[in-house]
Amino acid sequence: MKKVIIIGAGFGGLSAAKKLADGDFQLTIIDKTNHHLFQPLLYQVATAALSPGDIANPIRSVFSEQKNVEVLLGEVSSIDKEKNTVHFNGSSIEFDYLVIATGSHHSYFGKNEWEKYAPGLKTVNDALKIREKILLSLEVAEKEKDPEKRQKYLNFVIIGGGPTGVELAGAISEIVNKNLIPDFRNIDASMTRVYMVEALPKILSAYPDALSQQALDDLKKLDVEVLLNQKVVDINESGVKIGDRFIQTRNVLWAAGNQVSPLIKNLEVETDKSGRAIVNDDLTIKNYENIFVIGDAAAVKNEKEEYLPGIAPVAMQQGKYVSKIVSKNLQGKSRGRFNYKDRGIIVTIGKAKAVALIKGFKFSWVFAWLLWSIVHVLFLISFRNRLKVMAEWFWYYITNRPGIRLIVKEDNNKFINQ
Ligand SMILES: Cc1cc2nc3c(=O)[nH]c(=O)nc-3n(C[C@H](O)[C@H](O)[C@H](O)COP(=O)(O)OP(=O)(O)OC[C@H]3O[C@@H](n4cnc5c(N)ncnc54)[C@H](O)[C@@H]3O)c2cc1C
Repeated sequence: MKKVIIIGAGFGGLSAAKKLADGDFQLTIIDKTNHHLFQPLLYQVATAALSPGDIANPIRSVFSEQKNVEVLLGEVSSIDKEKNTVHFNGSSIEFDYLVIATGSHHSYFGKNEWEKYAPGLKTVNDALKIREKILLSLEVAEKEKDPEKRQKYLNFVIIGGGPTGVELAGAISEIVNKNLIPDFRNIDASMTRVYMVEALPKILSAYPDALSQQALDDLKKLDVEVLLNQKVVDINESGVKIGDRFIQTRNVLWAAGNQVSPLIKNLEVETDKSGRAIVNDDLTIKNYENIFVIGDAAAVKNEKEEYLPGIAPVAMQQGKYVSKIVSKNLQGKSRGRFNYKDRGIIVTIGKAKAVALIKGFKFSWVFAWLLWSIVHVLFLISFRNRLKVMAEWFWYYITNRPGIRLIVKEDNNKFINQ
C-alpha cells in the first residue's frame, strides 16, 4: 500500500482524505487541532448564534469506519523533501505522496502587537474569545454610570470590509442591538455604534459594484457606519486610530489580512506576496511530483492568469483533483491542469439578507439569503450538525433569541476593572 500523508483537515485536506480513504492506501491525516472546522459559520459562534460543536467535527469520527486511515494530533514543523519525511512533535513519518493543506491565518501586516487588542476570527478559540468580549462589554456598560467610559464598551470596530468583515459587522449590529440589549436595563440600542473600516474605496472588492453597493446599503440599514478609504494607523487598549480620528473602544475585531502557515516558508519553494506556495498546474511543488500544496496555502492561477481566491470551494475542488491524481498513481505521466469551476460567491448581511454572484448573475435580499442558508447547511459535514444548525436558526429566526450567551472566563475582573 502506498503511504499518503495529508497535513491539515480543513476544507482541502478533508475533501482529499474522504476520496482517498476509500482507496487502497495507508492514509495518515495530521492536524494541530482534533476537529474539522466549518469556518464560514464561525462568525455565528462569535456572535452567540451557534455553539462551537454545531460547526466543528472530530476528524477521528469522520474516518471511524476506515481502518486504513490514521488520524494524528500534532503540528508539522518541517518536511524533508529528499527523504520523503514529515516531522511533527518529536515524531517522523515517511510518505509516498504528501498533501499540504494547512490553510491560512490572519496577518497584521507586520503590526503583530495589535493582535492582543484586535483578535481575528479563524479558530473556535478565536470565536469564543470574541463572543466573551462582546458579552462582557455589555455587562460592563450596564453598570457603568460615566457615559464616556460606558461608550468605550458599546463601540464595536471591525477592521476589513471583505466577506468576513461584512458578515461580522452585520451580525454584531443585529444581534447586539435587537437580541441582546433588550435584556439589559441601563443600556439601549441607541447607545451602540458599529464601525467597519476599509482601506479601499469599496467593500467586498472582489464583487461587482452593484452588489458591493447593495451590501453597503444593507449595512447602513443595520446602523453600521462604514469608513471607506480609511487606514488603521494604531490599535491599543483604549481603541483604534483611523487616520486622524480616534475611536475609543474595547471591541476591535480584525478581518483584514491573511498569511499562510510557517510550514510553507520552511518548504523552501517560490511564494507569492502573501507567502502562498506557487505550485505547478497540477498543484505539485517544483521538482517534486509527489508533494502537493492545496487550498489557502497555495497560489494557483486560473486560465485568465488571475489568482484563485482563498475560499472553501477552491480548496475542496483542489482536494478532489489531487485525490484523483494520487489514486491513479500518475507518477512521470501527464496529469492535466487543475481547473477551478466557479459556482459563485455569497455573503450574508444580518438576518435574511445576502448578496450573491452566481455564474455572472447577481442576487440579493431574501433569495440570496435562502441560497446562502441552503449551501451552508448542505456543506456541513455531519447530518447531526445540519439538523442542529437548522434547528438553532429556526428558533432564532422566529424568536429573535440567540441561545448561547455564556461567559465562562475566570478572569473577568481583569476586563471589567480596566
Ligand atoms: C471567518 C471566516 C469566514 C469564511 N467565510 C467563507 C465563506 O463564506 N465562503 C467560503 O467559501 N470561504 C470562506 N472562508 C474561507 C475558507 O474557510 C477557506 O478558504 C478554507 O477553509 C481553506 O481551506 P484549507 O483546507 O486551505 O484550510 P483550512 O480549512 O483553514 O484548514 C487548514 C487545517 O490545517 C491545520 N494546520 C495548519 N497548520 C498545520 C500544521 N503545521 N500542522 C498540522 N495541521 C496544521 C489547521 O488546524 C486546519 O485544520 C472563511 C474563512 C474564515 C476564517
